[in-house]
Amino acid sequence: MQQEHFTFSSKNYTGYFNVDFSYVEKLVSKDQSVIITDKNLAGHYSHKFLTWRTIIIEPGEKNKQQATADHIIRELIKLKADRDTIIIAIGGGVITDIAAYVASVYMRGIKFALVPTTILAMVDACIGGKNGIDVGIYKNLVGTIRHPEFLLYDYGFLKSLPQSEWINGFAEIIKHACIKDKMLFEWLESQSLDSLQSSVHITDELIRRNVDIKYNVVINDEFEKGERRLLNFGHTLGHAVENLYKLSHGHAVAIGMVAACTISEEVNKFPAADKLRIVSLLKKYNLPVQLKFDKEKIWEVLLMDKKKSGSKINFVLLNSIGDAIVQPISVKQLEELFAVCL
Ligand code: NAD
Repeated sequence: MQQEHFTFSSKNYTGYFNVDFSYVEKLVSKDQSVIITDKNLAGHYSHKFLTWRTIIIEPGEKNKQQATADHIIRELIKLKADRDTIIIAIGGGVITDIAAYVASVYMRGIKFALVPTTILAMVDACIGGKNGIDVGIYKNLVGTIRHPEFLLYDYGFLKSLPQSEWINGFAEIIKHACIKDKMLFEWLESQSLDSLQSSVHITDELIRRNVDIKYNVVINDEFEKGERRLLNFGHTLGHAVENLYKLSHGHAVAIGMVAACTISEEVNKFPAADKLRIVSLLKKYNLPVQLKFDKEKIWEVLLMDKKKSGSKINFVLLNSIGDAIVQPISVKQLEELFAVCL
């Protein structure tokens, strides 16, 4: 097991990496804990949770809604959860987001810990304190920022992770490489999904490198005034197509990143050769690079996007691989680019 300490202005906590889930018993009292997970995880690992109080919800993004949060809250009341209760979220980003959100509002806030079980949750959703729910098609419109008591990474959970979910997570890994880490980009070019899955040691190295990228971006800008916005690379368009076309998060982000590369080429002289490398890398990891979408509908959702400020939309563009910037683009210019290039 390896430990890493995370220091935020409102909280310090520890991440435990490459450790069995049973280690949680050393960190919390079972009597005061409630596990929140979904039916898929419970199907594979109920033997691990048998002696724990557990709330099991339906899997999938469509359940990341207030109605599910209300259901969890009613279950917490039935279990007599109080201010001393700690919620342990075991699952992908949907579970960690909604469980952390419920923990943030139940009794005005109780403790929670995160045990991510997808690549995406491991490298992205669990780091940075953001939680929340979707409202209709609007992703993450309601939520809070609050950090866990600890993170625990048990790579044993990845044995049952469907290949499609591995691929999903690689969209965020490629995003990290594009915005911050050219060497990671080159490492990914030299590897394959198979080779990176081939040993726990390599998977751990990849996950921790990505955790560090996300953590370093977040601590430099906890309240999303600057650098943290870089993490939205591919997400402006990505979020819009994700809910409208019911795409997986990773697929949507991959499509969004290619669109952001195209806009980077147009407004930022991003080299065409770098865009080709990004497109090839996405393809190498079986991610989609284009989608025929309804421009009018997507445009409507984009205008509602929380990254819009006044008559401009903050777009994350690339100067080169590993070097990203946040650039406000006027709604008018974006509309023109949209019509011509996307
Ligand atoms: P997910 O949570 O829906 O999980 C994907 C699927 O895999 C689900 O069906 C789940 O039941 C299943 N699953 C999870 N772990 C498994 C395992 N080990 N074995 C077998 N099946 C398993 O999706 P996700 O991609 O992990 O997360 C997407 C969510 O994360 C989105 O809602 C997104 O908004 C959110 N997110 C949040 C942040 C943040 O900063 N809070 C960042 C990025 C993404």
